[in-house]
Amino acid sequence: MGTSTEPSLKVIEPATETVLAELPHAGVEEADAAVARAKRAFGAWRAIAPGDRAMHLRRLAATLAERVDELALLEARNVGKPIGDARGEVGLVVDTFNYYAGAPERLLGDTIPVAGGVDMSFREPLGVVGLIVPWNFPLPIASWKVAPALAAGNTIVLKPADLTPLTALELERAALDSGLPEGVLNVVAGPGSVVGERLVQHPDVAKIAFTGSTAVGRRIGALASEQIKRVTLELGGKSANVIFADADLAAAASAAPLAVFGNAGQDCCARSRILVESSALDRFMELLERAVTELRVGDPLAERTQMGPLISAEQRSKVRSYLDGDAPVAIRGSAPEGPGYWLAPTVLCPVSNQDRVAREEVFGPVAAVIPFDTEEEAIRIANDTIYGLSGSIWTANGARALRVARAIEAGTLSINSNTSVRVATPFGGFKQSGVGRELGPHALDYYTELKNVFLATN
Ligand code: NAP
Ligand code: MG
Repeated sequence: MGTSTEPSLKVIEPATETVLAELPHAGVEEADAAVARAKRAFGAWRAIAPGDRAMHLRRLAATLAERVDELALLEARNVGKPIGDARGEVGLVVDTFNYYAGAPERLLGDTIPVAGGVDMSFREPLGVVGLIVPWNFPLPIASWKVAPALAAGNTIVLKPADLTPLTALELERAALDSGLPEGVLNVVAGPGSVVGERLVQHPDVAKIAFTGSTAVGRRIGALASEQIKRVTLELGGKSANVIFADADLAAAASAAPLAVFGNAGQDCCARSRILVESSALDRFMELLERAVTELRVGDPLAERTQMGPLISAEQRSKVRSYLDGDAPVAIRGSAPEGPGYWLAPTVLCPVSNQDRVAREEVFGPVAAVIPFDTEEEAIRIANDTIYGLSGSIWTANGARALRVARAIEAGTLSINSNTSVRVATPFGGFKQSGVGRELGPHALDYYTELKNVFLATN
């Protein structure tokens, strides 16, 4: 470290466009060294008593809980997300480690009635797992992978996004400070095309868990198939927020903006297609306009801020390109001037589901309002996408709410709510939104192999 020839990574603060940190940029050598450390640590980590593994997760949760404010500040500055949101997210990370601390002692198998003996199944850890995470929710998404992977007895190499490596490095530090054995959790900050691909292709990495774009997810899937490597993918989305005329329109309209513009729209669960029953469109748009213009866009470190800047100039110009289509701008919120990758939240209406802005994931503060006339049409439009991550249904009719929820091809739906993530419930996508589930008890299935053992008794 520290030689002038070593490549370095400059981390930018998107609200100010200034350098927040500069750190060594890892390459293949560092990735290989991290895999080797994780491989050496695996035997001891898988062998410790389940109760001791649980204790390690609880201690890590407690160490993170002591550092909520500093981690939230770092995440808010690095991502440009509102400090209140960042604090909530670090709280979720603490909850995630505490939740999976309950797992090591509950990784149950079955005994299965068969002839001639006793048959048993076991959940075995995979070994070294490679975790690759994006820049929009750096610490929460890392924790959704790290916590179940550790609980199941795996060791880890975690690669954060180049834009946002700082809280992942703090997680590694917190793990060591909390007494997690060395080599169990290794963080390598380096480019996706180098360090990420090396993890995918490394013969000693048993599994890759990835969150990011569908394009990179496809590439990882293709590379991993060479070694039949286990892969779970959490990818993009183009989720529908379906609002029926009988819904509490005031509640739906006040929740809709942050369901798209939260995290400046850089959220795979963003309900970026707002489907509104035609008979309620005018009333809904009036209410939505009020809610969007009241959004507080600005300094991420100010307590009252609800939306900050985008992550980068590149992301902002990509998002702006979606505003040049055929759909008219119906509502435009505010954004600060001056340094920072700001972009005003914008609602387009009416939008056809065939427009580019309705087909592609924008990953920025742009919402498309698409009118519909019948329940069948709403379902057809909601499903007319390659994605299937999330979505909402707003209606006072409970039977219809469940009927539509069952008909929508998506993994994580909410009724009369725009929330997607709860530590205890499964999260993940249908179709090209991904493979596998995170959070909840099911996540453990993706960090274990099912083994069956037969013991002859006669
Ligand atoms: P991305 O370009 O796919 O990057 C995600 C991660 O993969 C980063 O750590 C990146 O490293 C790494 N990576 C890039 N190329 C790679 C390769 N060839 N092999 C292995 N790893 C590689 O996505 P992003 O730009 O960070 O995030 C935006 C996208 O992620 C959006 O499409 C969004 O929907 C999706 N996303 C999905 C979810 C979900 O839960 N479904 C959550 C968040 C985001 P570098 O940064 O170093 O290049
Ligand atoms: Mg990228």
